[in-house]
Amino acid sequence: TKFRTLITPVLAWVEITKLVSQHQVVNLGQGFPDFSPPQFVKEAFIRALNSENSLMNQYTRGFGHPPLVNILALFFGKLLGRDINALDEVLVTVGAYEALFCFFQAMVDDGDEVIIIEPFFDCYEMMAQMAGGRPVFIPLQPKPVSGRMVTSADWELDPAELANKFTKRTKAVILNNPNNPLGKVFTRKELELIADLCVKHDVLCLSDEVYEWLVYDGKEHVRIATLPGMWERTVTVGSGGKTFSATGWKVGWAIGPKQVLRHLRTVHQNTVFHCATAAQQAVAEGLTKELECLGKPESYFISLPQELQRKRDRLAASINAAGLKSILPEGGYFLIADVTATSELPWFDLPDSTDPEELYDDKLVKRMITEQGLAAIPVSVFYSAEHKKEFENYIRFCFAKEDSTLSKAEKILQEWK
Ligand code: PMP
Ligand code: GLN
Repeated sequence: TKFRTLITPVLAWVEITKLVSQHQVVNLGQGFPDFSPPQFVKEAFIRALNSENSLMNQYTRGFGHPPLVNILALFFGKLLGRDINALDEVLVTVGAYEALFCFFQAMVDDGDEVIIIEPFFDCYEMMAQMAGGRPVFIPLQPKPVSGRMVTSADWELDPAELANKFTKRTKAVILNNPNNPLGKVFTRKELELIADLCVKHDVLCLSDEVYEWLVYDGKEHVRIATLPGMWERTVTVGSGGKTFSATGWKVGWAIGPKQVLRHLRTVHQNTVFHCATAAQQAVAEGLTKELECLGKPESYFISLPQELQRKRDRLAASINAAGLKSILPEGGYFLIADVTATSELPWFDLPDSTDPEELYDDKLVKRMITEQGLAAIPVSVFYSAEHKKEFENYIRFCFAKEDSTLSKAEKILQEWK
């Protein structure tokens, strides 16, 4: 046929966002902070808009505003321990979403296999398919734990199963580190396993690191592009929106070797071409300031994760007190909880006519919104059709929220029995 047959897109974002808008809810669903970005980036944005240099309100360089690509090259040069060329190893995109899209369109051809680790940020599956690729899934497996809270580190890849997923048709592995929705931060050993397979089979790696600064309990965030043989085959994706708590600005980037990035540039040039100049200027100034105070207490990249770790612990405690089981995330701004116990709740008593095919987490989230005024995201949206059913007993909460929002959620959870 002339049209590719795509799987049905995940309706959760649209459906849940609609439900949320129709009800008075405490919204711990879609991932965005309800607190303000830091003053210094907001001021930079306003300065850009008001600057005497009227060019700040016009198009800038299509592959990235020069101040932004320059500081990204410097910053990531330091993080990745190599010289990065601002002109051909950095591409600025409309949010991390567009960087992901450019990678799939540019690098994945008809019939190519793309290995995706589950649970995964849902758009990877559709983007692989839109490019004509075939997603191949491998779920992280929760290992049994007793006597303590489960953490995202307890969800592991089976090395033999992973090795088996690589075939002659494998084009790329998609890594999301820290992961959305689980919050797993991959250890060096786990990354070495993935990296060795990529090198052995000559496969690309798309490393989505939008939550790179949000790592807790002193865990180390290792960038897979720094492992031997990986720079040449890795595209690292980041997000100014996640970095500076300004998701509406939609400034993202891809960093990688020029022989790969040139193909992403072709897609960018012929679809989007250009990103908002003033937003790029603000992110550039924010990163410039952060590079000056990297690792120091006054850094936003130190204070934000400290704040979020406190919020994570607070939400985990409220969830556990309500009889659910938090899986404590090592990074990111989501926490998933095992909700098996909720089937006993009186308000969750479903009428007989409910669709028997509907997954447990979908039913629960809809009911939570309409009956309890609390929104979350069903975790099955982050699984392929083949594995959804196995993981339907989890829902995802976003804890990048004001303390007052978390207090309201806590109150609902306390009273919901
Ligand atoms: N990757 C992951 C893992 C995400 O959670 C998100 C959502 N913010 C994105 C990419 C997209 O980021 P952006 O808002 O910068 O497009
Ligand atoms: N990354 C955000 C989340 O996971 C937003 C996703 C979206 O808006 N589709 O909630």
